[in-house]
Amino acid sequence: MKIKKFFPLLFLLTVNWTLFPSMMSAETTKADNNGIIDLRILETTDLHAALVNYDYYQTKTDNSIGLVKTSSLIHQARSEAMNSLLFDDGDHLKGNPLGEYLVRIKGIQKGDIHPVYRAFNYLKYDAITIGNHELNYGLKFLKTVLKGAKMPVVNANVYSAIKAKPYFKPYVILKRKMVDKQGAAHNIKIGVIGFMPPQIMKWDKANLEGKVIARPIVETAKEFVPIMKAEGADIIIALAHTGIDSEPYHPETENAVYYLSEIKDIDVILAGHSHSVFPGSTYKDLPKTNISEGKINGKPVVMAGAFGSRLGIIDLQLEANAGKWKILKSTSFTRPIADENGNPLVKTDKKLYKLIKPEHQETVDFLKKLGI
Ligand code: MN
Ligand code: MG
Repeated sequence: MKIKKFFPLLFLLTVNWTLFPSMMSAETTKADNNGIIDLRILETTDLHAALVNYDYYQTKTDNSIGLVKTSSLIHQARSEAMNSLLFDDGDHLKGNPLGEYLVRIKGIQKGDIHPVYRAFNYLKYDAITIGNHELNYGLKFLKTVLKGAKMPVVNANVYSAIKAKPYFKPYVILKRKMVDKQGAAHNIKIGVIGFMPPQIMKWDKANLEGKVIARPIVETAKEFVPIMKAEGADIIIALAHTGIDSEPYHPETENAVYYLSEIKDIDVILAGHSHSVFPGSTYKDLPKTNISEGKINGKPVVMAGAFGSRLGIIDLQLEANAGKWKILKSTSFTRPIADENGNPLVKTDKKLYKLIKPEHQETVDFLKKLGI
């Protein structure tokens, strides 16, 4: 009796064991060729040292600014996504009394980590770029504080005036394991390159002359993008610390996003510098622009305002075809930290607040001593 009952079960097991390996390999092959990956790209831009939801001039809470608020949006956006990457688009060190206090009063000593980079390290940014305002305190200060940033810092169009090569790391190729909709893992190479307006040579002449030169944004992009492709970048993201304008391009163009979007192998653009919001009504008359999908010339673009007021989000769907990853669809949008009246829409990230509180408090105390 026992043997009779057991026999069909044994047969089933045998069949399954023989089928299993072939099914597995069929699954893997299918995923390699046709896997679909949802990838969410997150952007902060033009933070201008607004780490805390606090107005140092009016000495009161301001819930419409502050990375401690944006941070909650970052955590939320990450938890909703299978795969995500976080970038900052520059102008993050200067613009409020905290930034000034750290440079002019306290100073950054060797080994100190600037609270902006302490915050970025805590939030595990994948890469960042620098904006024109990062140059305002001089190159020496910048090089010192950048040592505290644990993630790659890229800019391609500021060149050394002495050696004919980029002054910063021009681009990075991030290697990330990403999971497709069937749960299979894929290795994806994400090329990340940075730009800032060539006007830095006028704006920061005293700091920069004789040390660096600024190259035009589009020409520089056209030079580096094929190199990044040759190094195996599956997709290329531009951290473009530059705004959006369709005025005819010339080498001195300050806001070059529109023309970056025309470059063939640039897939995604994170914009900044002009402190506005894309997609948004400001850009409704821009040619070849789809505001509802957040695209310019068919390319996903996002610009997340300034001071941490918004988180920029681009949702990409990538599909592998003949070993190459292509963007199937994309949607760009931003999420605000407060409503139009300044009422908070998200909580403060208390862990982050605790990490940066020392310098925030010192700044508040210093201003108090000055009688502000
Ligand atoms: Mn700015
Ligand atoms: Mg700027």
